Amino acid sequence: MAKRVIVVGAGNAALVAALAASDAGADVTVLEKAPRDQRGGNTRYTAGLVRFAFDELAAVDELLGNNAATSGAVTVEPYTAETFTNAIMQTSRGEADPDLTDWLVSESQDVLRWMKGHGIDFEFAQYLTTAEGGKTVYRNGLVLQSAGGGEGLTAMEFAAVERAECEIRYGTAAIDLIRDDIGGIVGVRIRNDAGYTEDLYGEVILGCGGFEANPEMRTRYLGPEWNLVKVRGVPYNTGELLDAALRVGAATYGHWADCHAAPIDVNSPKQGTLETGERTNRTSFLFGLAVNEQAERFIDEGRDWAPQNYVAVGKAVLKQPNGIGYQLFDEKVADLLDPRYGDATVYQADTLPELARRAGLDPEKFARTVREYNAAVDDLVAFDSTVRDGKATRGIDPPKSNWAQRIDTPPFRLYPFTGGITFTFGGLRIDRGARVLDAGTGTPIPGLYAIGEMTGGFFYHSYPAGSGLVCGSVTGRAAGAAAAAAALRGATTAAALS
Ligand SMILES: Cc1cc2nc3c(=O)[nH]c(=O)nc-3n(C[C@H](O)[C@H](O)[C@H](O)COP(=O)(O)OP(=O)(O)OC[C@H]3O[C@@H](n4cnc5c(N)ncnc54)[C@H](O)[C@@H]3O)c2cc1C
Repeated sequence: MAKRVIVVGAGNAALVAALAASDAGADVTVLEKAPRDQRGGNTRYTAGLVRFAFDELAAVDELLGNNAATSGAVTVEPYTAETFTNAIMQTSRGEADPDLTDWLVSESQDVLRWMKGHGIDFEFAQYLTTAEGGKTVYRNGLVLQSAGGGEGLTAMEFAAVERAECEIRYGTAAIDLIRDDIGGIVGVRIRNDAGYTEDLYGEVILGCGGFEANPEMRTRYLGPEWNLVKVRGVPYNTGELLDAALRVGAATYGHWADCHAAPIDVNSPKQGTLETGERTNRTSFLFGLAVNEQAERFIDEGRDWAPQNYVAVGKAVLKQPNGIGYQLFDEKVADLLDPRYGDATVYQADTLPELARRAGLDPEKFARTVREYNAAVDDLVAFDSTVRDGKATRGIDPPKSNWAQRIDTPPFRLYPFTGGITFTFGGLRIDRGARVLDAGTGTPIPGLYAIGEMTGGFFYHSYPAGSGLVCGSVTGRAAGAAAAAAALRGATTAAALS
């Protein structure tokens, strides 16, 4: 009797779904397009940052399994559901679906606790923290990451799925959906690395990411300027199951013409690799200046904290000549740079004209841009890297709204950067049970679920860093439970009829 749940993909969303379906008593098959050594999707490339709502520090301790937050050894600022909701609404410019947002935020803490119960450990976030009075400060909901980052998360999740005795088929891509006579989905057609196709039957959960690694779909939906962009994640998220779902009448949702992008080292590979992962991120621009190849500024570097502004910066740099920018810092802020700048492509010099010459920029124009900026700095306001200090420029465009210090202390450093696509925002429309809705009727398509980056409606324009993994966990857990219940119901009905 078919009580099988088929999970397409093997990133965080899919593996959480597999665990939830297995918990509920279903037989589970996980299909991973990648070979075993490349398994894990974009999830494996992440820093493992997980944004979640909490009022009490005890919730953080519970996830860490110690008393590090309540002991006061570090400073942790609570992050309420209201603040998390506002962050999603602000970054989406009010477009995010309120019901999906409420679902994501309200389950964000509980799903991490559930994951911990399945052997997924957490630790304090490694990046995007600040220090005050000798203590590390965790604020803005960026408190925890999976232990060992994305690599650790992937290893812990596969171990859990293996313990649950789910079947995992590597090098196996789902290539189409199989429909029954009355419009429900009853399985998937798969193709393995040797080119053999086979039909598999069961409830189908689509957890196979967005279409960010497909140049044709990027051009189709995002526009021609995204055709040749560098891809930060895996080459496997190519959207063929999104197309298959549209062919069976699934409703689309969300911001199809936009995506997540981030500022990355100009020498990042064209296609992300396990070795580079998220280590090419260049998100300390708030403490410096950014110019393009014409030595002109093009963004408000200090508009907000990096997690709230890095997506806008990643997209803005792609609009500059050759898609390239340069982040300039002086020695005063050297200690404030993200540790990932340690591996960065960088030019260094003791004078600004010499620095420009080394980087191939017009020395005079570069020095003039910095001079104009320095002259616009408000010396009456004190610089404070631990708060949005309001130390802004006056009378230049674009302004710098915070952390605007003069650039005057050698050595000066210039980090060339570009933008890389992370994931796409458009996807399938789901309900709170992660069931895919029919475009015509608005009701769930029997047998079909979508999770993580396959879905739309959560994120528009940008997103608060660390929300993607939690979105995958919340949708994945719901889909696994719902698909297992349907599979077990189907098996019972079939047994009764036979
Ligand atoms: C460099 C980088 C850093 C990031 N850092 C963070 C972070 O710290 N925190 C955060 O919340 N988010 C982060 N993100 C975003 C994050 O990756 C996602 O939100 C999350 O991992 C998506 O999970 P997912 O399961 O939906 O997709 P993925 O993890 O991408 O998994 C998709 C899976 O589907 C498989 N697949 C694709 N097509 C098929 C097919 N046809 N058949 C079978 N399998 C298929 C893929 O091989 C893969 O296993 C980052 C992304 C990148 C690229």
